[in-house]
Amino acid sequence: MREVVFSSRGDETRATVVSRESVGLTIAAYLRPLADSAFALLFPADCRICREPLLRASRLPVCQDCCDAVVPIEGSLCPVCGERILTFSRGELDADPEPCGQCRRAAPAYSQAIAYGAFEDALRETIHLLKYDRVLPAADFLGGKLSATLLQLPATDSPGWLVVPVPLHARKLRQRGFNQSELIARAACKRFPMAVQLNTKCLVRQRETIPQAGLTRHQRRENIRGAFAVRDATTVRGRDVLLVDDVFTTGTTISECARVLLRAGAARVYAATVARVLKAAPKADRIGTEKQVGEAA
Ligand SMILES: [Zn+2]
Ligand SMILES: [Zn+2]
Repeated sequence: MREVVFSSRGDETRATVVSRESVGLTIAAYLRPLADSAFALLFPADCRICREPLLRASRLPVCQDCCDAVVPIEGSLCPVCGERILTFSRGELDADPEPCGQCRRAAPAYSQAIAYGAFEDALRETIHLLKYDRVLPAADFLGGKLSATLLQLPATDSPGWLVVPVPLHARKLRQRGFNQSELIARAACKRFPMAVQLNTKCLVRQRETIPQAGLTRHQRRENIRGAFAVRDATTVRGRDVLLVDDVFTTGTTISECARVLLRAGAARVYAATVARVLKAAPKADRIGTEKQVGEAA
């Protein structure tokens, strides 16, 4: 917020614009350590992930160690769907990996799906804090992580990416009160260095679906088919669209959104999610363990 401060001599033409935030920041720099200890003393709270007492006042009730545990995916990834590719020469990264078997068998509708981190540990907990415990400041944290990932996107012509959060059905939106994908997309767009336009209206979820957890890939596709529709094709026609969601599980949701967007005339559809379910872990002791994780609704 900015306010205009007039000089004490009453010369109203020589107005100076003073940022309230800049003054606030200076004061905060002096008072912060004091405020933090007073906060910890007055409002003892625990980190919502590891339960250790929080030592600093923050809008996100997560300690620094847990925040630092949210890290990007490493290793060789499928250049299409982002699934981890296991190589026989462990420890060696394939600089230019081929698409995974799944993508080779049936190329998805989207051009590429990128994700920031693996859907596990602190990142999974933070996403759950947002979605199920309504800790809204988590969206800003997650959006910040996602914005770093968006730098991998290819260049696009003017007017830039059309950013479309995966929509919730109206009933689900009323129930939850917010669409987590939209909050994350907004937070990411704020930090995105390229030109982007956020559009939360052009894609709608017109049909309710049953939770995807426990369904086979085929059942998921049947469940999601026809769930989405493009409301206004003129906004997507000829555009490069970036779908944003919180979690990429099997890609069924993203693929179906991409399909209807392309049918409505979108030039290319990319997808970016904060987290991705990875079937294979890079560590030798975890290779071969398949994780069963429910699709994010
Ligand atoms: Zn913690
Ligand atoms: Zn793939």
